[in-house]
Amino acid sequence: MNMRTIPGELAAAIEAERQPLVETARTIWETPETAFAEHTAARLLTELLKKYGFSVEKPYAGMETAFRAEYVHGTGGATFALAAEYDALVGIGHACGHNLSGVASVAAAYAAKIHMEKHDIAGRIVVLGTPAEEKGGGKVLMLRNTNCLEGVDAVMMAHASGGRTKRDAGSTGIRGFRAIFHGRASHAAGSPEKGLNALDAQILLFDAIGLYRQQMNPKALIHGVIIEGGEAANVIPDHTMSRIGIRSQQEALIDEVYDRFSKMVEGAALMTGCAGEIVEYAVPYKPRKPNRVLNDLFMEAARELGMNVTDELPSGRGASDFGDFSQVVPGAHPYFGISAPGQPDAPGHSELLKARANGAYGYDSMLKAGAALACCAIAVLTDAETRAAIRREFGSEHSAK
Ligand SMILES: [Zn+2]
Repeated sequence: MNMRTIPGELAAAIEAERQPLVETARTIWETPETAFAEHTAARLLTELLKKYGFSVEKPYAGMETAFRAEYVHGTGGATFALAAEYDALVGIGHACGHNLSGVASVAAAYAAKIHMEKHDIAGRIVVLGTPAEEKGGGKVLMLRNTNCLEGVDAVMMAHASGGRTKRDAGSTGIRGFRAIFHGRASHAAGSPEKGLNALDAQILLFDAIGLYRQQMNPKALIHGVIIEGGEAANVIPDHTMSRIGIRSQQEALIDEVYDRFSKMVEGAALMTGCAGEIVEYAVPYKPRKPNRVLNDLFMEAARELGMNVTDELPSGRGASDFGDFSQVVPGAHPYFGISAPGQPDAPGHSELLKARANGAYGYDSMLKAGAALACCAIAVLTDAETRAAIRREFGSEHSAK
C-alpha cells in the first residue's frame, strides 16, 4: 500500500457517494434542530450509516438523538472513532456548520470502511453521534452515562471554519454560573432607606470583574450579562440575576478565576446588605487538548487533497464539548475552510457562515475533510508506530499539566 496514494483513493470513494452525502447535509441545514431535538439529523445520518454497512445503536447513552455506529473488519486491530455533530444554534440555524461536520464524519467512516475491506485491514471504526454541542454538552453526558470511548485509540472530527483549513490549536474549557442577589423591595423615592438593592450588588460585581481583568492571568476569560435587573424604576429590586462564563485552556486557571469570582459575589452582597448566591447552571466543558500527531496527519492529507490550508492557528477561545473527549483519549478537532479562496472570512455563528454552510464550496470542502479524516483513521489502524507516537504525545500532554 502506498501512503501517498491513499488520500486520492479515499476521496474517490467519497466522491462516488457525493449525491447522498451532500443531500443529507443540505436537508440537515434546511431543518435546523437544536440541542436534544435533532431527530431528523440523527435519523438521516444513521440511515446512511446503515446503508454503508455499519451496525447502529440509537438511542444511545440515554439520549434519543445520540447514536453509536460501528464497523468491524477482521479480528483484533485498533479502534478509530469519529464524533458527528448535527445540532443547530437557537434562532439563527446552522451558523456553526454542524450540518457539514456531521456528514464529514460519516463520509470518513464510509471511506475508511471501503478501504479496510479492499486492503483487508483489521480494526474497528466507531461513529459517535453527539447531540447538543452548542448547549447541553452531549459528549459530556455520553461520557457520564456510558463509557463511549472504551477501547478507542483515537477520536477525531473536523469542524467547519469560516476561513481556511487549519489545525486544532486547542480550545478553552468553560464553566457557566448564575450570580443571584436577594435584597428587599421598597419604594425607590418614598422609602429607599427600607430597601436593599439587589441591582446595586450586580453593578458592584460587574465593576469588580472589570477591574480584576487588569490583574487576571491573560490566559483566562470572564464575561457575563445581567438577565434580571429589576422591573420598575420606582421599586428597589429585591432580586437580580446575571450569567457569567469563565474560560481557559487550563482547568486550574478556571478554578483560580472562579475562586476570585465567588469572593466578589460575597463582597458585593456584604456592601449592599443583600444575600448572594452562585449556581452552576451549565454542563462544564473541559479544555480541548489537540494531539499533535493526529493534527499533522490531517493537515498532510488536507494538503494532498488540495484543500485551502493555512498554518495560521484558530483563536482557541471558544469552547467545545469535544474537549471532554480529548481529555479521555487522544483526539483532534481540526477545521475545514468553507470560504472559497478570495472570499472574506465568515465569522462564527454569523448569517454569512450559515450561507456558506449551504454553498457548493462548503460541500466540496466537507467531502475532502471526510477524506482527510479517513486518512487519519487508516494511519491509526495500519501503523503501530503512529499509534505509539499518538499515545506518547497524549501521555506527555497529561504529565505537563
Ligand atoms: Zn460548532
